[in-house]
Amino acid sequence: MKLLTALLFLFFLANIGYSQKPGADIDVLHYRFAVDLSDATDEIRGSATITFTVLKPTNSVRFDFVKQDNNKKGMLVSKVLEGQQPIGFSHDQHTLSINFGQKLEAGTQKKIEIEYSGIPKDGLIITNNKYKHRGFFADHWPDRAKNWLPCIDHPADKAMLDFVITAPEHFQVVANGVQVEETSLGNGMKLTQYTESTPLPTKVMVIGVADFAVQLSDVVNNIPVYAWVYPEDRAKGFHDYGQAAEILPFFINNVGPYGYKKLANVQSKTRFGGLENASAIFYFEGSVTGTRRSESLLAHEIAHQWFGNMATEKEWAHIWLSEGFATYMTVLYMEHAHGKDTARNMLIQDRQKTIAHARNSARPVVDSGVTSYMELLNTNSYQKGGWVLHMLRSQLGDSAFWRSIRTYYTRFAGKNASTEDLQKVFEEVSGNNLSAFFRQWLYTAGQPDLAVNWKYDAQKKIVAIEIQQQQNTLFQFPLEIQIAGGPIDGLITKSLPVKDKQTVLNIPMTDKPARISIDPNIKLLHSAIVTELKN
Ligand SMILES: [Zn+2]
Repeated sequence: MKLLTALLFLFFLANIGYSQKPGADIDVLHYRFAVDLSDATDEIRGSATITFTVLKPTNSVRFDFVKQDNNKKGMLVSKVLEGQQPIGFSHDQHTLSINFGQKLEAGTQKKIEIEYSGIPKDGLIITNNKYKHRGFFADHWPDRAKNWLPCIDHPADKAMLDFVITAPEHFQVVANGVQVEETSLGNGMKLTQYTESTPLPTKVMVIGVADFAVQLSDVVNNIPVYAWVYPEDRAKGFHDYGQAAEILPFFINNVGPYGYKKLANVQSKTRFGGLENASAIFYFEGSVTGTRRSESLLAHEIAHQWFGNMATEKEWAHIWLSEGFATYMTVLYMEHAHGKDTARNMLIQDRQKTIAHARNSARPVVDSGVTSYMELLNTNSYQKGGWVLHMLRSQLGDSAFWRSIRTYYTRFAGKNASTEDLQKVFEEVSGNNLSAFFRQWLYTAGQPDLAVNWKYDAQKKIVAIEIQQQQNTLFQFPLEIQIAGGPIDGLITKSLPVKDKQTVLNIPMTDKPARISIDPNIKLLHSAIVTELKN
């Protein structure tokens, strides 16, 4: 996901927690969401058929589902059925509990149907687009699906799904997976069904229902790539989103096979800059310009199809496995497409942002203290997470880096992973013990803040460089220093291991150096102030 910066603070800062979240005692295998939408009202009617396995013996099963409030927003459940048999339920603010009246043993598989209606409080954006045309755009990240779909709204419970949408005939429907039916019902309404056979986390389940112009941009490795744009933006949008077909091969070639059966790129009313919905990416409506200015946004969301959607974090605290990966994969794609200078500039900018963020927030990247998940959309998850991957690449080399990425993806595609899982893969592939690396960069706030003082001794013909770590926790890292000498010495680059509070380097130099640069090749997340000490 990419944020539209100004919007970040306006919504959802309070995510009210409840003591124990639904989902611990069941594993959802499949959802079938049948939803009726209308032009006349924002009220939706839904029927959710949920197939799940019981993990722990229990009498009742709970789902995340937002109940109708005093403002008439939210959902009212009319009945719950198992087959034709009604079953008891209770519904509080955020949770629907279904009471089976008998103990369900672990391993039992159940299929229930929940019928409901209401005006979504959130999660399904029903609004006019910039051309004043009505549309419906699901927008779930992080756990907003529960506002209109009963579900286990957590990334660790992935499930296959069907969306069966009945909507006025003039609309077109896009969703995850493959369209398997489109039938005019003869009453001005149309039924459209999509089937997704790859299990998805709820955060990237999606429908978009609007007036669209649709083009097959290209077919890449048998994957059809589509542009879905507002009809008014047809030419510009087809041009802009057609670029997805040029971006897709980079990830297929470097990471692994694409996990889904199509890739739709959809102009939408998402409140984010982009939302990486599996196989149906939503971009903010202003992303269409006709000039392909959204290339890095497309690359970021496409990278998420591998990282976040297929290989998904186990817990929200490990969100950098989505956002840090999408951030750095975009840098790598841009390097591939536009050259090293482009990537270098992106990394310098990301490093500046990370250092500025650390000055205001002493939190680590893996931050299990956050319960308001929107707050995880921060510089640590994105830019610092990206920089952690960049340092792994810089320190282990391109070959071990890419082999690790591919191994991680192969092992966790379709599943969930934690930061420890990633560490294990990098250690296996590289043969290095990376516990210090992971501890300091991901579980420790901040970065090395270096004071570098140097002095040239003209009599001994030595430049003495002293590096001081000024932050509270000492880091260990390889540091490159470049010394610009005169005509005889030339340009000297030294790499030295730093782990102590203070490290001293003495280098013989014929003349006083003109300049000393720290990390000239942009390999280390750090801040540095370089000072020449006068004699
Ligand atoms: Zn993202």
